[in-house]
Amino acid sequence: MCQVISLPASSLDPLQSPLQYLKGVGPRRAADLLRVGLATIEDLLYRFPIRYEDRGSFQTIAALRPGNAASVAGEVVSCGVRPTRRPRFKIFEVLLRDGTGSMRAVWFNQPFLADIFHPRQRVILYGKLELTSHGLQLQNPQYEILKSDEEGDDETLHTGRIVPVYEKTGNLTTKMQRVLVHHALEQLPTELADPLPPAVRSRANLIDRRQALAEIHFPAAGTPLDELQRFRAPAQRRVIFEEFFLFQAGMVLRRRRADADRKGRSVQVTDEIRESARRVLPFRLTGDQKKALAEIVSDMKRPQPMNRLLQGDVGSGKTIVALMAALVAMENDFQVAFMAPTEILAEQHFITIRKLLEQSRFRLALLTGATPARKRREIQAELAAGSIQLVVGTHALVQDPVAFRELGLAIIDEQHRFGVMQRATLRAKGLHPDVLVMTATPIPRTLALTAYGDLDTSVMREMPPGRHPIKTIAKPESRRDEIYEFVRRQMDDGRQVYVIYPLVEESAKVDLKAATEMADHLAQDVFPAYRVGLLHGRLKQDVKDRVMGEFARGELHLLVSTTVVEVGVDVPNAALMVVEHAERFGLSQLHQLRGRVGRGPHQSYCVLLYQSPLTEQGRDRLKALTETTDGFEIAERDLQLRGPGDFFGTRQSGMPTLRVGDLLRDHQLMEDARREAVAALDDPQQASALVAFVRNSWEQRFGLVGVG
Ligand code: ADP
Ligand code: MG
Repeated sequence: MCQVISLPASSLDPLQSPLQYLKGVGPRRAADLLRVGLATIEDLLYRFPIRYEDRGSFQTIAALRPGNAASVAGEVVSCGVRPTRRPRFKIFEVLLRDGTGSMRAVWFNQPFLADIFHPRQRVILYGKLELTSHGLQLQNPQYEILKSDEEGDDETLHTGRIVPVYEKTGNLTTKMQRVLVHHALEQLPTELADPLPPAVRSRANLIDRRQALAEIHFPAAGTPLDELQRFRAPAQRRVIFEEFFLFQAGMVLRRRRADADRKGRSVQVTDEIRESARRVLPFRLTGDQKKALAEIVSDMKRPQPMNRLLQGDVGSGKTIVALMAALVAMENDFQVAFMAPTEILAEQHFITIRKLLEQSRFRLALLTGATPARKRREIQAELAAGSIQLVVGTHALVQDPVAFRELGLAIIDEQHRFGVMQRATLRAKGLHPDVLVMTATPIPRTLALTAYGDLDTSVMREMPPGRHPIKTIAKPESRRDEIYEFVRRQMDDGRQVYVIYPLVEESAKVDLKAATEMADHLAQDVFPAYRVGLLHGRLKQDVKDRVMGEFARGELHLLVSTTVVEVGVDVPNAALMVVEHAERFGLSQLHQLRGRVGRGPHQSYCVLLYQSPLTEQGRDRLKALTETTDGFEIAERDLQLRGPGDFFGTRQSGMPTLRVGDLLRDHQLMEDARREAVAALDDPQQASALVAFVRNSWEQRFGLVGVG
C-alpha cells in the first residue's frame, strides 16, 4: 500500500526547492551550483539568458549563403582530423549532407571531437558560414548530436528553436544550464503562487508567472528575436516588473514605517524667528534655495520625522539652507547635530557656522576624533544638559554614545553616500529627529527612484549669482611647462592654485610619496618665489588644520593636495585647479574636485593633466568634463559610462542587488512598478499578502537595510 503524505501547501513553494533534488543534479553538481550562487529552483530560473540564438529554421545546404549564421541539419558522411602544415595546428573536419547537397564543417584544435562525431549520425550544426577554397564551410560551429538514448526528448532543446545562451560560470556550461532549466520547468506545477496581485497584472498588462518563466528560457516560436535581445519580450517584462514591484513595495513600506514614528513635537515659525534668520543671512537666497528651505520647514512642522534629501551641485549653497533649518529648530528649543563625512569638512562647517551665528544666543561645539578626551566629556555633558544647541562633527556623532537633551534635527552632509545607515542608527537609539541628508552628487532620476526611493527630495539647480562657469581643459602631461606658466600668471594676478594628486588605495604609500615629492619640486624648482603647501590625509590633525588655515587666509599661493580637499572646502580666491593623473579619477569625483574653484568673483580654470595614451573610457570622461559644468548632465554621463552598480561606489549605498532588471535599460518599468506598488499597498484586499511577502524576502533579495 502506498501512503500519501500531504504537506501544508504554504510550506511547499516549489521555487524554493533545493537544486540538489532536481533531475540530473546530484550532491556533487549541487555543490558546484551552490558555488556559483545557485541554491534553489528559483535561483536557476531567475538567471536570465544573456542572449538568444535563433536556431529555429534549418536551412538546406543548397540554399546557404556565405557571411550569415545558419542552422543546418544533416547526416555525417565522414569525419576526421586533418593534419596541416603547422605541426601544432589540427583541424577536425566533418562532411555533412542533407537532401540538397553536402558541405564541410571544421573546428580548429579540437581533436577530441573525433570521439564525438561518427559517420551516419544525425547532427545539427549552428554557426557562421565562410567561403573558402573548399567551398562553403561552417567554422567552429556549435553542434548537437541528435539521437542520444538517455536524453531522449532533450534533443530538440538546443536546436530547432530560439535557444537561450547563458553566461558560463564556474564549470556550469550554457548547455548544462539549458538542460537543468528544462528539467526545472518540467517539474514545476502548472500553477505558481504569484506575488503580483491580479489587479496589478491586468493593469500593467503582464502575463502569468509560470508562463513567463518558461518563455524566458524557451521562447515560443515566432517571438521576435530583437525583442528578446532588448529584454522587451512579454515574458521578460513580466519578470523584471515583478522584481521592481517587490523592491518598490519594500521601499514604500520602509518609508511608511518611518512615517509611523512620531517625534511628538513639531516646530513653529513665528515672525520673530523669521527676523532672527534674516539677521544671520549674509546674502539673499537664490530661488532654489528659498524653495528648498520652504520644503524643509514645511516637513519640520509636521509631527512625523522629516526624511528629506537636499540635492545640489557643488557650490549651489546647501550649507546655508541647512543652517537656516538648524536655526528654526534651535529657535524651537531643539538641538541640532550637523554631520560631515570627514574631519576637515566638519571643521570647515564649524568655522562657517560659528561665524554666521556669532551674534546669536546659540552655543555650538565641534566634536571629532581629534577632540581631546576632557573637552569631549565637557561637550557631552553640555549636550545632555541642553546648554549646547548645535554640535558639528563627523558621522561618528551618531555612533558614539552622545546623549542629547532633545535632538530635533540631524543634518547629514553625505557627499557620495547616503544617510541610510545613520538614519538606522538614530532609529535604533529610539531617536526620531527630523533628518536632512545633503548630497553634492546630483542623482540621475533613474537612480533617485531606487537609492532614495523612501526620501522626499529637494533639488537645487540654480547657482548663487555672480559665478562664472569654470573653464576646463584637458592636456597631456607633455604640456606641463605651458601649464606651469599659466599657474605662475594666475598667482601673479593674486589668485591661489590647487594641484591635486590622486590617492589610489592599493598604492597609497607610493602616491603619497609622489605627492610629497611634487610639492617639494614645485616649491624648490618651479615656483621658488611662491609659498607652496602640502595637504594629505596622513598628516596630523593640527598640521592639516594649520595648512588649510594658511591656504584659506591666502598665506599660501599653491596647495598640493590629495583628494582630501574634495569635500566642501571653500576658498573663494582659489581660481585654478590642476589635476595630476586626471585619467585615474572617476567622472563624478573630478566634478566634485573641480567644484573647489569657481567659488569667488574670478574666472576660474580647471586643467586636467593626463598620461597618454588614454583608454576610451578615460577619454570620454575628460571630454565630458571639458564640455559641461552641469552636475546633473555629468551624473547622467557617469551613469552611462560606469553603470548603476559603480555609480555610487559602495555597497551600502542603498542600491539594490537586482537579478533580472537593469536600472538604466528598464527605468520606465521601474516607474510603473513604483506606482503599482503604492496602489497595491493602499488596497486592503491586496496589502496584507504583499506585506508578508516583502517582509519575508526583501532584505535577502535586495541586500538592503530592512523593512520589517
Ligand atoms: P555646497 O552646496 O557645495 O555645500 P556651499 O554651501 O559651500 O555650497 O556654498 C558655496 C559658496 O556659495 C559659499 O561661499 C557660500 O557662502 C556661497 N553662497 C551660498 N548661497 C549664496 C547666495 N544665495 N548668494 C551668494 N553666495 C552664496
Ligand atoms: Mg557643502
